[in-house]
Amino acid sequence: MRTTLLRSVRATVLDTVGNTPLVRLSRVTRSAPSVEVYVKLEFCNPGGSVKDRAALRMMTRAAADGRLTSDKTLIDSTSGNTGVAYAMFGAAMGFRVALVMPSNVSRPRKEIARAYGTEIIFSDPLEGSDGAIRLARELVTRDPDRYFYPDQYSNPDNPLAHYHGTGAEILDAVGDRITHFIAGLGTSGTIMGTSRRLKEHTRPIRCIAIEPDDAMHGLEGLKHLPSSLVPGIHDASAYDETVRVGTEDGWDMADRLAHEEGLHVGHSSGAAVFAAVSLAERLHREQGGGCIVTILCDRGDRYFAPAAWEKRYTW
Ligand code: PMP
Repeated sequence: MRTTLLRSVRATVLDTVGNTPLVRLSRVTRSAPSVEVYVKLEFCNPGGSVKDRAALRMMTRAAADGRLTSDKTLIDSTSGNTGVAYAMFGAAMGFRVALVMPSNVSRPRKEIARAYGTEIIFSDPLEGSDGAIRLARELVTRDPDRYFYPDQYSNPDNPLAHYHGTGAEILDAVGDRITHFIAGLGTSGTIMGTSRRLKEHTRPIRCIAIEPDDAMHGLEGLKHLPSSLVPGIHDASAYDETVRVGTEDGWDMADRLAHEEGLHVGHSSGAAVFAAVSLAERLHREQGGGCIVTILCDRGDRYFAPAAWEKRYTW
């Protein structure tokens, strides 16, 4: 029997991804009053991060064209957020999921993936995300029939999710005003897809990628491109500029966002807003106006270290 759904009711969790709100910052931008700075609340996605968009498109496309079938296990390397999204949609769609991650990834992310019934395979923490990529590829090469390997670093559906989703939504919301877009770069899916969509707009919109300035102690989720494997989907000509942000600046701005704006977000979001506020101050001085949009990738609670958890809760 077919049931007709009420308008506000979604068929499954898959239908709750995207259409995230844009919020205007007011306090951390006090030093640049003539410039509007908007943040897109990607932590409002059901898995709690921007990566729900990419994972959903990669999985639904693969299921539709037969690359992902119920006898296969989805396997991929991930520092956490994409893994949570794969785990969640795998459970909802009925596919097994195995995640390869460096063993030093923050505990809440491992726990969240496990809560969905996902298998976790640990790679060498000293090799970072590149080590996880290598191990995932090794496992797939050894047993290709067992796995579906979406490979978020090379899968065109990753940037396309942002081309059709994030970018289109930003233009819908502030297309008449936006002058600059800023996003952190991990797989580069967000900056690639969103920039491509924004560049189709009739007015020029300057697109800026954020990288950590420190290769070793960087910001979780972000890549230091000069010292990493360059993602297959990355094409530097899709955006205008790369700005380096210090780890401390990303952490400090994440604190300020929580204290002053009521937005408790991760450090990569702090880094993006740090870059947005620096740019806003310059635009305020030089042009007396502007409209910047950036992305809040995930919530701050995803980064609570075990020690902090133990202090906060007793169990
Ligand atoms: N911030 C965080 C916290 C992330 O997990 C990621 C994805 N690794 C990014 C930013 C970057 O997103 P993308 O992969 O689309 O470049």
